[in-house]
Amino acid sequence: MKKWQCSVCKYIHTGETPPDKCPVCGVSSDKFVLLKAESDAEGDTLPPAESAPPKSSGPGPVTEPANLYEKIIGIMVKHHAHPVSVHIPNGILPVAVILFILAWALGSELFVKAGFINLIFVILALPFVLFSGAIEWKKRYAQALTTIFKIKILAAALTTTACLISVVWYLINPLVLSSSKGWIFILVNIVMLASAGIAGHIGGKLVFKD
Ligand SMILES: [Zn+2]
Repeated sequence: MKKWQCSVCKYIHTGETPPDKCPVCGVSSDKFVLLKAESDAEGDTLPPAESAPPKSSGPGPVTEPANLYEKIIGIMVKHHAHPVSVHIPNGILPVAVILFILAWALGSELFVKAGFINLIFVILALPFVLFSGAIEWKKRYAQALTTIFKIKILAAALTTTACLISVVWYLINPLVLSSSKGWIFILVNIVMLASAGIAGHIGGKLVFKD
């Protein structure tokens, strides 16, 4: 039996032919590369031939990054900067939303303030999360724009927008939760939490391939 690897997400398919589309990232069969013919050893797969480093035509290492920016990008991708950084806002976000819901239900000013302070940490972390996510998509997934990546980008945009709306809204009106529009504020926060959850779920699917 042959083994085929998705060149975008690295999912491995076993069969005589590659699948019509990747079950993980959704790219078409032409993005699959043949790894090798069946080996008796389970999981004994070689990297695809086309990923072999190109032969140097001149002196000096060809893999050296062009500049400091490229060097930093390379380190970020290698050390999984996106999944690492995303856990900061994803850990705080549910706490912020729970605090806002409690504040809304109990009329507690203290919980509103605590929720807002949590949200500040989320918004401070988001630029790095979005940047590292964009870098990862470009470098690791060849900017593939299949449904899974479109949903992930949309979910990230929704999370960021909802977070910005919540922060600005609170700054304009700190009493928003005790106003008649309090439920809309809660709704925006629930959308933010759900979007972050969807983005995280898709990220997990891409990483763990299940
Ligand atoms: Zn794939």
